Amino acid sequence: MNAPKRIAILGSTGSIGTQTLDVIAEQHEHFEVEVLTANSNADLLIKQAIQYKPNAVVISDESKYEQVKEALFTHGIKVYAGEAALSQIVQMDSIDMVLTALVGYAGLKPTIECIKARKPIALANKETLVVAGELITELAKEKGVNIYPVDSEHSAIFQCLAGEFHNPIEKIYLTASGGPFRGKSKEFLLTVAKEQALKHPNWDMGAKITIDSASLMNKGLEVIEAKWLFNLKPEQIEVVIHPQSIIHSVVQFQDGSMKAQMGLPDMKLPIQYALGYPKRLKNNFQRFDFLKYANLTFEQADVETFRNLALAYEALHKGGNMPCILNAANEVVVQAFLQDKIRFLDMPEIIERCMAKILFVQKPSYGDYVETDKVTRIKALELTKKINTLAN
Ligand code: NAD
Ligand code: MG
Repeated sequence: MNAPKRIAILGSTGSIGTQTLDVIAEQHEHFEVEVLTANSNADLLIKQAIQYKPNAVVISDESKYEQVKEALFTHGIKVYAGEAALSQIVQMDSIDMVLTALVGYAGLKPTIECIKARKPIALANKETLVVAGELITELAKEKGVNIYPVDSEHSAIFQCLAGEFHNPIEKIYLTASGGPFRGKSKEFLLTVAKEQALKHPNWDMGAKITIDSASLMNKGLEVIEAKWLFNLKPEQIEVVIHPQSIIHSVVQFQDGSMKAQMGLPDMKLPIQYALGYPKRLKNNFQRFDFLKYANLTFEQADVETFRNLALAYEALHKGGNMPCILNAANEVVVQAFLQDKIRFLDMPEIIERCMAKILFVQKPSYGDYVETDKVTRIKALELTKKINTLAN
């Protein structure tokens, strides 16, 4: 029996973070918690730290530092605060693996530091690969660091590729539930409220990814994520709508044979696979029952109505800093939509305008990504405000 793997969870208070803690609690012989981090939910971070006894925690919101420190001082848990601390903590010697479950661009810097410190990564934070996939994958290769996908579709592909190392991929099919607005028209989408968009049929997730799922941007981000994780050309990646979310994705090999990974929609399974790879650990998750699913159905994605998916493909084809522009604009518009400042269909509109307006860089450096993210946010915010004033 090996010593338990010591895990750092970036974003432990979120949907993926809390489910990762559930997995670790169930598999306590295999994993233990070394570091927990959160943006601003101090109460939950404190509760988690008292229960899981990490060596250290980081709260990004510095105004919460005193509260967390006071609560954890008697427990002997080190407390740090601020963005820079997040990038430093991942370098701790005692960490065996880092699970990146924070949301958005904020994951980029800590992920780079993880790789530099040669820590294997279980990656949920897809935005990092969207923003800077080339830089991240090249650095990971140089440092010999493995990145294990947590996203269910990419975990599915990774699982299908086990034992197929020498067999080239002809194509992959990323499945998508289609979200709460599957089959709806543009006219319908014009007036949808955030409460409707936040009701995902199959998955219970954080607010940002739930909106991304409703707009199909999530699938667009996943197409770009797949390109970098599996070294594919855009033409090799196809999206298929599969409303039941049972087949999590499919790999087609050169002989035409297709391998799919299936199971109930439960993120704990891909989380556990990424943490425990290459082992499949015994657990008591609910099992799939064929008789409860008489029909598994498939449809073409409607990229006319859900333009975000087409925009993501466009960004992927264009390359350079274009996916970074797409991501930054998307983070701004999703936030604005959640604050009722813009309408659902304003989102692709603003993203497209940012993609047309922001300076294109073919071979971006890290500094170029930082700059692109910054200027795109300013532009997207400006466009958001313009639309907002027009609406009032
Ligand atoms: P969430 O909003 O529920 O949780 C986000 C976590 O990150 C929280 O702990 C929060 O405190 C932390 N965080 C947010 N912003 C931060 C910042 N600026 N700096 C530091 N920490 C910050 O999100 P989630 O649904 O758990 O998703 C996390 C990531 O995993 C996203 O990239 C998402 O796309 C991906 N993902 C999620 C799911 C899912 O089922 N939830 C599935 C696949 C992939
Ligand atoms: Mg996914």
